[in-house]
Amino acid sequence: MIERKNNLSGQCQCGNIRYRVRGEPLTFYTCHCLDCQKQSASAFGLSMWVMSDDFELIAGRLKFWTTIADDGSKKVCAFCSQCGTRIYHMIDDGSSRISLKAGTLDDATQYKPVAHIWTKRAHQWLDLEGPEILNYPDQPDSFSDILEAWAARERG
Ligand SMILES: [Zn+2]
Ligand SMILES: [Zn+2]
Repeated sequence: MIERKNNLSGQCQCGNIRYRVRGEPLTFYTCHCLDCQKQSASAFGLSMWVMSDDFELIAGRLKFWTTIADDGSKKVCAFCSQCGTRIYHMIDDGSSRISLKAGTLDDATQYKPVAHIWTKRAHQWLDLEGPEILNYPDQPDSFSDILEAWAARERG
């Protein structure tokens, strides 16, 4: 097992929203799709899947906004109503998992993604090749390899 010094906790930019996650992450990857570039106002999104029951709101009240993804699925997005920081997306696959926007963690630096997805949309200056990371040009047909790669690395 990989030992980490901090529990999973985080907040929005203004501090109105604070949360913690009781369990361990299920996987962690980057997404370079245009939606994630817009949502993050940056080059890519950081997606850390956790069980929705493990997510605990400590302070503030989330607002929700719904969008339709390219594949037609519904995506419910939770954000801070004061500063607009995106906190998580609900995953529309009936699994009760959420995709935490990992840039909101108090210490995201200790987590390393196992995959990049939508790399055909990636900013051209990024160097995404590497033997230890999965790489998908667009939406993966299944996330099972991405989940397994995370589980394998966590087992050590
Ligand atoms: Zn805020
Ligand atoms: Zn994306």
